[in-house]
Amino acid sequence: MTKDLTHTVLIADKNILDKYELVIGLEVHAQLLTNSKVFSSDSIAFGKEPNTNISVVTLAHPGTLPKLNKKVVELAIKMGLACGCSISRYNIFDRKNYFYPDLPKGYQITQDKTPICKGGEVSVKTKDGKVRNIPLNRIHIEEDAGKSIHLDGENETLIDLNRAGTPLIEIVSEPDLRTSEEAAVYMTEVRRLVRYLEICDGNMEEGSMRCDANVSVRLKGEKQLGKKVEVKNMNSIRNVQRAIDHEFVRQITLIEQGKSIISETRTFDADTGLTHSMRAKEEMNDYRYFPEPDLAPFIVSEAFLESVKAQMPLLPAQLFDKFTQQYGLSDYDAGVLTDEKNIALYFEEVCSNTTNYKAASNWLMGAVKYHLNKLAIDISDFPLKPEKIVELIDLVDANKVSFSIASSKLFNEMMENPALTALQTAEKLNLLQESTDDAILPIIEAVLAKNPDKVIAYQKGNKNLLGMFMGEVMQMSKGKLDPKKTNELIRKALEKK
Ligand code: ADP
Ligand code: MG
Repeated sequence: MTKDLTHTVLIADKNILDKYELVIGLEVHAQLLTNSKVFSSDSIAFGKEPNTNISVVTLAHPGTLPKLNKKVVELAIKMGLACGCSISRYNIFDRKNYFYPDLPKGYQITQDKTPICKGGEVSVKTKDGKVRNIPLNRIHIEEDAGKSIHLDGENETLIDLNRAGTPLIEIVSEPDLRTSEEAAVYMTEVRRLVRYLEICDGNMEEGSMRCDANVSVRLKGEKQLGKKVEVKNMNSIRNVQRAIDHEFVRQITLIEQGKSIISETRTFDADTGLTHSMRAKEEMNDYRYFPEPDLAPFIVSEAFLESVKAQMPLLPAQLFDKFTQQYGLSDYDAGVLTDEKNIALYFEEVCSNTTNYKAASNWLMGAVKYHLNKLAIDISDFPLKPEKIVELIDLVDANKVSFSIASSKLFNEMMENPALTALQTAEKLNLLQESTDDAILPIIEAVLAKNPDKVIAYQKGNKNLLGMFMGEVMQMSKGKLDPKKTNELIRKALEKK
């Protein structure tokens, strides 16, 4: 058993920490969004009464046999294609044997020697703009276990087997991540991919995406990998980063004290930000993997693979390229707009009906995002559909409403009453901008008549007064005049006098 360093002062000296390099490999489990379990027709619906989604197969009654859910294979392949993995055609499942009360069969069905996806990579872009492709070792299919529930003040452990047999993919990276920030960006990217592919909801807080972080340190320049520690139990990307940061300092402290790192599994405590030993390698199970005899090997046919390829949606990287190259958006705008699939699709819909892409981006990044945040809703629940944004863009481009009025009064009213068009709403609120001489000139005349001394000052050379006249005219018209035209007419009127 390892002794925790709870009573030891962790090294804080930057010069010492700087001598070392972090090495991280992540194992990410993602629950697949199928209707039924991976080897039975039991539902995987979340939040059901405990032990209701459990047929004899899930309960592992004698004589029952697993049967592979084809949808699981399809979703796993999608992730593999998104990461550029090679897809295995000949697949077998393996038994991973261990005893735990929430594992009714006494083994987990997984893929040991023949993962469905091999190789591939995930691209990570850190804050400093550096892009690195993190190689994957594999993505394989396996089943989830049930849940053990420990109620406060109770001695008994309760078991809920609803989750047992839920399909998972495990995405295993090579030990190629070098900072905790890279690990966080990697997790964010994996989450974005599974959400774009709609194969997993990516919610770490609810446990539908989970991460084990393998962490080691070594002196910079050293080629050999250090001994790794596996950290579990982080329920957010932020906590993955915190756990890694702590491990970095803890492991260096041990090494600097002349102690050695012990291969072990540790658990992260979100309250303290520390990790604690769960079990050392010697206490770990020998899983005695062997091929699952109850399932025939399954072959991924050319036709099946092609049909999955044909269903692949556009991925964030492809949309990013389209938004920057075809629509001329900045990297920053394209990054924000591709962050969430629904926002990207909404933006695409706006852009299929306007060529003013920059305006479309401004509307989304401004008024739309502001209201989404304020209402804390997803864009699919947003009251204004993409065609409303197109109407707003057209109205501003036609000089009928100024952008500032369109994005404030007009937008707010349309949110309340989305049935009317932007033009109808502007008419209703009397917001349409006047751009005819007949509408503008009388107001200019009135303002000039009110300020005879300023008119003389302007004519004597104080051209700065133009702004003052403009302000008064706009105020008198309640901001309804076309500003460019008005500015021009004021200048002409002053020069004529
Ligand atoms: P194990 O046999 O202990 O499960 P694996 O070789 O299967 O180890 O690797 C599991 C995960 O640990 C992978 O994500 C891998 O990249 C990572 N990993 C392996 N060795 C190290 C190391 N020395 N430091 C950090 N991560 C590592
Ligand atoms: Mg392993």
